[in-house]
Amino acid sequence: MSTDESSLGFESLAIHAGQEPDASTGSVNVPIYATSTYAQDGVGGLRAGYEYSRTGNPTRTALEACIAALEGGTRGFAFASGMAAEATLLQALTGPGQHVIIPDDAYGGTFRLFDKVMRRWQLAYQPVRLTDLDAVAAAVRPGQTSLIWVETPTNPLLGVADIAALATIAHDAGATLVVDNTFATPYLQQPLDLGADIVVHSTTKYAGGHSDVIGGALVVRDDTLAETIAFQSNAVGAIAGPFDSYLVLRGLKTLAVRMDRHCDNAEAVVDFLVAHPKVGQVLYPGLPGHPGHEVAAKQMRRFGGMISFRHVDGEQAALDMIARTRLFTLAESLGGVESLIEHPARMTHASVVGSALEVPADLVRLSVGIETVGDLIADLDRALA
Ligand code: PLP
Repeated sequence: MSTDESSLGFESLAIHAGQEPDASTGSVNVPIYATSTYAQDGVGGLRAGYEYSRTGNPTRTALEACIAALEGGTRGFAFASGMAAEATLLQALTGPGQHVIIPDDAYGGTFRLFDKVMRRWQLAYQPVRLTDLDAVAAAVRPGQTSLIWVETPTNPLLGVADIAALATIAHDAGATLVVDNTFATPYLQQPLDLGADIVVHSTTKYAGGHSDVIGGALVVRDDTLAETIAFQSNAVGAIAGPFDSYLVLRGLKTLAVRMDRHCDNAEAVVDFLVAHPKVGQVLYPGLPGHPGHEVAAKQMRRFGGMISFRHVDGEQAALDMIARTRLFTLAESLGGVESLIEHPARMTHASVVGSALEVPADLVRLSVGIETVGDLIADLDRALA
């Protein structure tokens, strides 16, 4: 970009970072470079630094530059899914005999990666309540704990962890602090500024924003970490393709305006749920009574578009209610423009049933979209009746 990026605001970076008009045609949008390889002018004579698209592709480069700028990082890496980003990171930074601390309410797929995949490679993991900083410090094994994995807010219990405090614990132990920023997005929370070393995204969610792509990303500030991840990404090859990179890049352009509307709508839905007799506990970090409210207010711009709540009449009533919504589509995933509803215990978090991470059976999770908020509330009202 010709303008100095450091002087630009978030919304400007989302639209311009890494996205110069195409040099050869003037195309305002970054083209989808559907190519696996690049012509060379003599052996090793690369025209623009590209030799093979597993290693680098201009559409992916644009997305990587944009998401890095939005997170306040120096290097971004785009992957085929959030899980691909996570797996590449763990392969790059951990090894047999090491130990990692994970949230006791981590996303089910993340837990499964540690429990069913990385454990076979002799990587020990320990779920810990990350809101209990003393418990985290006590769980650190000097010389063995290589990484602390943070999700905040968490999926689906909306727990909030203090990123700055956890960064101090990790760094005192010589460990790396990883923050999954999928729920908050860089518009609401910037973990690198708070001391995190690596940010993880499922760009499938708010970053893409339209439920039309699966993707993942990592962002770092440190050059050595960047080189390690670049090597692993190329060696393993779980990279985002050019079409998917384009979709996520397009989604990022409107991230700020979408997030503000997601937050507006979620706040109104929370007010409705809190007052409803069939609704028990409402889990939303914006509620003053939420145990993580103060920390969330300190480290987040607003509180996001995800809400979970418990049905007072138990699991079957929760399932019946979920089946009755019309505007809220019954589906996994989150972060798209359309509102979604799901039952974590039987759907997104079925993989943690029976583990320390099991979630309540009467829990309902909402991904509040950007439709007309009165319509969303009417839909929930009808379904809860
Ligand atoms: N992290 C969080 C917080 C998630 O919610 C998800 C998916 O739901 C992932 C990571 C995994 O991302 P993906 O589904 O893109 O592989």
